[in-house]
Amino acid sequence: MNSKEPILKVDKLFKSFGDLKAVNGVNLEIYEGGIVSIIGPNGAGKSTLVNILTGFLFPDSGHIYFYGERIERKSIQYRVRKGLNRSFQINSLFNGMTVKENILLGLLYWELPLGRLLTNRLPKALEEKVLEIIESVNMTDKMNIEVDKLSHGEQRLIEITLSIVKPPKLLFLDEPTSGLSPDERNMIMDKIRSIAETGTTVVLIEHNMDVVFSLAKRIVVLNRGSVIADGEPSSIRGNEEVKKIYLGEDLTVA
Ligand code: ADP
Ligand code: MG
Repeated sequence: MNSKEPILKVDKLFKSFGDLKAVNGVNLEIYEGGIVSIIGPNGAGKSTLVNILTGFLFPDSGHIYFYGERIERKSIQYRVRKGLNRSFQINSLFNGMTVKENILLGLLYWELPLGRLLTNRLPKALEEKVLEIIESVNMTDKMNIEVDKLSHGEQRLIEITLSIVKPPKLLFLDEPTSGLSPDERNMIMDKIRSIAETGTTVVLIEHNMDVVFSLAKRIVVLNRGSVIADGEPSSIRGNEEVKKIYLGEDLTVA
C-alpha cells in the first residue's frame, strides 16, 4: 500500500454509556513512525477510545481501519496478532507471581500452544528468552520476587516490556507515567523513546504535559468525546480552546 496511507484510520466513531456520549464522532488518522500523544481532561474519553481501538469495547457505530482492513468488530487477540497492542492505565500484571513468571506468561502467549503451560520444565530456548527479556530491563536480581513487591515504576516497565515482546506495529500506552515518581517517570520516558526508535509507532495517552511535550511530535486533544485540536506541539500550546480546557495547568512547560 501507499506509504502515505495512515496505518490506522478512525472514521466517525461513537460510543455511549447510557446518556453519556463518551466517544462522540471521532475521526483520526495515525501515520507510521514516531510518537503521537492523545491528551484531554479526565473523562474526555481517552481510555474509552483506546479500548475501542484495541478491541476491549465495540463501538456503537463507526469504522476502524488498520492497514486498510476494517477491524472494529475483531477480537483483541486478532488485533494483537495483526500488530496492534496496548498497555493499561492500571496494573495488569499477575500479582503474587514473580517477575520471571509474569514474563514467561507474556511470552507463552506467543511461543507455545496452551497445553504446554502444564509442562513444569521449560524448553531451553524459552528459558533463555525469558532470561534475556529480564536482563533487558535489568531485573535479573529480582526475577524471583513477586511483581507486587516491586516499585510502581518497575511494574510499569515490565508491563510495557510485555506489550512489545513481539514488537507491535502500533502500540497504545494509556497513561504509562501516572502515579510514578519523577525518576520512575524518566525511566519510562526513556523506554517509550527506545520503543519508538525500534520502529513501533506509539500512541501515548498522557496527562502529564512535561511528558507530552518532550516526547510527542503530534498532539491530539480530546474533550467530551470529540477531537478539538490536532497538530504539532507548538500549535497545540497556542490553541485558545485547549488553553481554556487546561485553565490553571501550565501549557508552557518543556
Ligand atoms: P478518560 O480516559 O479520558 O479519563 P474515559 O474514557 O475513562 O475518560 O471516560 C469517559 C467517560 O465515560 C467518563 O465520563 C466515564 O465516567 C465514562 N465511562 C467510561 N467507561 C464507562 C463504563 N464502562 N460505563 C459507564 N461509563 C463509563
Ligand atoms: Mg483514562
